[in-house]
Amino acid sequence: MKCPLCGHLKVHKHGKMPSGVQRYFCPGCHQTFNERFDTLYYHRHVSPEQIRQVLQAHSEGSSLRGISRTSGLAYNTVVSIVRGASHRAQQVHNAQVQALETPEVSADEMWSFVQKTEAMSSW
Ligand SMILES: [Zn+2]
Repeated sequence: MKCPLCGHLKVHKHGKMPSGVQRYFCPGCHQTFNERFDTLYYHRHVSPEQIRQVLQAHSEGSSLRGISRTSGLAYNTVVSIVRGASHRAQQVHNAQVQALETPEVSADEMWSFVQKTEAMSSW
């Protein structure tokens, strides 16, 4: 099982969704995802750095089309990253509690991006 986000080869099993779908945690990019992870990510190797930039720009109020232009990522990819991040907020929180091997600094950083992203998109 390879991380669909960054291509990291050693993802950890990370519990199951209430629906029984296996969840995974990637130590490479500190994302959790599941077997039904948005297929947009699967054939596109979006780097953790690109994801960070997209979320950062989004939290600063850039439009999704603007982010698409500056990042060079397809508009739909940008939408999917932003949507995925707010959807995963709860999972990231859970990962902080459950995955003690996660370096805390990275998790905190990710969590603050997600919180900002959520605040921005609560309209
Ligand atoms: Zn990864």
